[in-house]
Amino acid sequence: MDRRDFLKSTVAGTAAIALASTPLSLLSSCTPKAGAGKKNVTLNLSFQEGTAPGASLAEKLDYMENLGITGFEPGGHNLANRVSEISQALNGRNIRVSAICAGFSGFILAEDPAVKAEFDATMRDIVAAAGELHSTGVIMVPAFNGQRPCLPHTMETRNYLCEQLHELGEYAVKCGTTVILEPLNRRECFYLRLVADAAAICRDTQSKGVKCMGDFWHMQEETSDYAAFMSAGREYLQHVHVASRGRRIMPGEDGDKDNYVDGMRALKEMEYDKFISFECGTAGDRAVTLPAAVELLRSQWEQA
Ligand code: MG
Repeated sequence: MDRRDFLKSTVAGTAAIALASTPLSLLSSCTPKAGAGKKNVTLNLSFQEGTAPGASLAEKLDYMENLGITGFEPGGHNLANRVSEISQALNGRNIRVSAICAGFSGFILAEDPAVKAEFDATMRDIVAAAGELHSTGVIMVPAFNGQRPCLPHTMETRNYLCEQLHELGEYAVKCGTTVILEPLNRRECFYLRLVADAAAICRDTQSKGVKCMGDFWHMQEETSDYAAFMSAGREYLQHVHVASRGRRIMPGEDGDKDNYVDGMRALKEMEYDKFISFECGTAGDRAVTLPAAVELLRSQWEQA
């Protein structure tokens, strides 16, 4: 054996010894693959209608285009009468409707049949308009804490919710869109607080038109941003909202609290191709805080 062969066999031997001494549990399928979180996945950012400065929709969209924002999230109120206005404003731009934010009257878990009927009618109008605008879906909350009288938080109510959502989801599919359940924090909506619970309801509705989302602000309820998004996965996760994590203003305005890397890592690993949409105000000068927030999210996406 010459010196080179000796070195080769020594290196191989050392590697074999190292492998043999590694506990089997560390070599399970849970071991992260090298670079698993570094996939080249595009970050699609979106603004709600009130996020960008501008006196008109055209001015807001100009501002968004300059920042490279490719999604627009209007409110659902009066949407049926805005379809041509919004379509024309987006024509020729690299911006599309991301999701529609609520805007209906009544609520799906209303005890009063008249309030439930109001929800059914107004929500269906918004879903139809959302389909015409090629939106990923219409965001809804089953019941805010303050909405009364509300069906009790029981097994029967959950079954009823799944049945009702099935019908609504099938209608959304016919319209070419979806309905998106948004979990909130306990102060706003005790009924639905966790992304995994929303995803389980989506599954149990047995309709491809029922999806869910995560909102980094409300996700203070979660024990893990990563696990929350992973629990929904590509099958159910249809939208994401973002705000700062202390005061619900621009990402970055709450300093170190505004860390989205763990959640973004999940989004990248699942190759999430929908939008992260701003839902926040600002405590500072929007002309400064908004571009800074976009920059912060882009740099954290790179890190994730
Ligand atoms: Mg939200």
